[in-house]
Amino acid sequence: MKVTAAVARERGRPLSLEDIELDDPREDEILVRMVACGVCHTDAKARDGYGSVVFPLVLGHEGAGTIVEVGPRVRDLAPGDHVLLVSDFCGRCVRCRAGQTAYCDESALRTFGAIRPDGSTRARKGDEPVRASFFGQSAFATHALASERNALKVGVGVPLELFAATTCGMVTGAGAVLDVLPVGPGRSIAVLGTGTVGLAAIMAARAAGASKIVAVDQKQSRLEHALALGATHAINSGTTHDVAHSLRAITGRGCDAILDTTGAGDLQRAAVGALDVLGQLGIVGGGGEPGVPLGSLMIGGKSVRGIIQGDASGTLGLQRLLELHEAGVFPFERLVRTYPFERVNDALEDSLNGETVKPVLVFSQS
Ligand SMILES: [Zn+2]
Ligand SMILES: [Zn+2]
Repeated sequence: MKVTAAVARERGRPLSLEDIELDDPREDEILVRMVACGVCHTDAKARDGYGSVVFPLVLGHEGAGTIVEVGPRVRDLAPGDHVLLVSDFCGRCVRCRAGQTAYCDESALRTFGAIRPDGSTRARKGDEPVRASFFGQSAFATHALASERNALKVGVGVPLELFAATTCGMVTGAGAVLDVLPVGPGRSIAVLGTGTVGLAAIMAARAAGASKIVAVDQKQSRLEHALALGATHAINSGTTHDVAHSLRAITGRGCDAILDTTGAGDLQRAAVGALDVLGQLGIVGGGGEPGVPLGSLMIGGKSVRGIIQGDASGTLGLQRLLELHEAGVFPFERLVRTYPFERVNDALEDSLNGETVKPVLVFSQS
């Protein structure tokens, strides 16, 4: 079918709105009419060539919409269902079978590769193949193909233009705190960087009962957000000379847990210095220069752990976020600003420069 998509054609260039041809759903695929799609730094990274992406490519990996059609092997979803889309995985490899789908053996292919496992592209323009399986969805388009694996059915009353915001960065931040790092009642955590992932981590830490939650950022406006969402302390890393010293002063012994969302080497170094004995540093921010002094980990039994998608298992992490929201302890909607789909490039820029914490594209339904 003909769909309108925001196509990345050239590294670093704005996306172009184009009509392309999308395949009919295959046996295990679902066709989703998009209602909304969150915008994430990962989209901008791919636009700029990260992960050896191949152009032309349709980005967008936080889709939310209604199912129009399902392939014959789809069992639990049907046309009319409302769904939120997460990253795809194979469901068969040793990691997937252990419920660790964030670390699927095929994740490179199914995320930045943006093709089906058999190498086909899901879309084309004339004779030109267009990659349209970015994170198993490519949701910067009026319609997208996904699968039962990476779709979570939600009630028809769930406002998709808000909940599209929850499917990636928020699962990452919340999962890191709730499933990986030692965070709980009486514990202390510092969160480095207060974008979507960091603020989600702060809301989750509060929900988990952490007694000291320290937000660290260079932007004062972000720190205000963090304090409003549950941080007990804030450190402006732009004006604080010694972040590790400040963290120790606040926590007494040092932090039980620190989550780095920045990838900045100087902050990672400070974090290792600010961990308490047996403390754990979680890394979810890629890039940056090497900064962690590995030799200093041994004394004190400190550890550093990389975390993808909050250690997600399929759609379970997302399901839990929706339950936390319903319980009133995950007020993510305060971070969302909506944009019409046609303004996708503005939304990407506002996400990158920090103008908006969490942009969400909304599709016209006419
Ligand atoms: Zn994302
Ligand atoms: Zn797998």
